[in-house]
Amino acid sequence: METKNLISEVFNQPTAPFKELHVLKKLEEILRKQKIPYFIDPSGNIVAGVSSKKTLWKKPYFVFIAHTDHPGFHIVKSEKKNIYKALWYGGAPFKQMKGKRVRVYNAKNTKSRTGTILNIDASIYKRTGMDMAIKIPGAPVEIGSFGSFFSPACQFSGNKVITRCADDLAGCVMALGALIDIKKQKLPVIAIFTRAEEVGFVGCIGLLKSKVLNSKYARVISLEASKALPGAEIHKGPVVRLGDASTIFNARMNRFVTLSAQNLTKKDNSFKYQRRIMDGGSCEATAFDLYGFKTMGISVPLVNYHNQGKKGPAPEIISVLDVENGRKLLVEIAKTHKTFENATRAAYDRLEAQFNALKGNLRAL
Ligand SMILES: [Zn+2]
Repeated sequence: METKNLISEVFNQPTAPFKELHVLKKLEEILRKQKIPYFIDPSGNIVAGVSSKKTLWKKPYFVFIAHTDHPGFHIVKSEKKNIYKALWYGGAPFKQMKGKRVRVYNAKNTKSRTGTILNIDASIYKRTGMDMAIKIPGAPVEIGSFGSFFSPACQFSGNKVITRCADDLAGCVMALGALIDIKKQKLPVIAIFTRAEEVGFVGCIGLLKSKVLNSKYARVISLEASKALPGAEIHKGPVVRLGDASTIFNARMNRFVTLSAQNLTKKDNSFKYQRRIMDGGSCEATAFDLYGFKTMGISVPLVNYHNQGKKGPAPEIISVLDVENGRKLLVEIAKTHKTFENATRAAYDRLEAQFNALKGNLRAL
């Protein structure tokens, strides 16, 4: 499946923290069609590429991880006719949200209703939900419905994708695309699609606690759409992410991923990449690092991160080319997985050779 098709299939699903059901259903549907095995962990995360925890390898394997949620709200209570109490989960331009339109969805279908934010308490940021009042005209809305800003689900404009949610459906598409590309090759690689990342890696921590993965073998690469920064601009390639706002990632993982990107540049004229610390936010690699795993990140640069435009709520914007090249980089990593140790070994051997050639000069003083 082409990257652009995957983007339009996946990005058309609405989502919010803990309300990822439409995205998860779509991912399962594609996995089944592509005959890629998967299972669901106790927290509802999808683990794809193997059919059960037992079939995971007792040797090093790569884990591509992406989250299926995006900041959004839940309808929690009906206050009076057409007025609802809601809780907003995750980052957003809170000070500029009053009076803005939103789309409301429910579990049954992805067709939206329209509402308006009457009020939001932006005095302090609460991970456990920001209090809001929303007006939704028409028939009563089911409690438990959820929503997002009033942005297009997925519009293409040249190579740009204009969307309510690139973070992190872009990561999901890169991981899924790579799994599709390598599915016949029996490589030690899985992809994990997690839930509720935006409220503190909640799905990811559930995954870690369920001990699906073994830190002795799992080499984790967190895939993200991350705030564009100088040196990490859209259309210029996926970013080999050296760290996030909280954590510097694993040096050996970094060396291997950077080498994979360099090699791919030599083989494929259309491939380009960038490399820097993406400290506009923190990602699941930080959680994995804290739980003792070797981690790394790859992200696509994202404009209007968390829907924060210059004048308030705005669609997120990414590049199809960056997602496509991110997918290629993951495939390269998967195919050359056996050279992981060599990447470090070669650098070590170079230092040894240089030392042996020049050590005589140390005696010269
Ligand atoms: Zn994210």
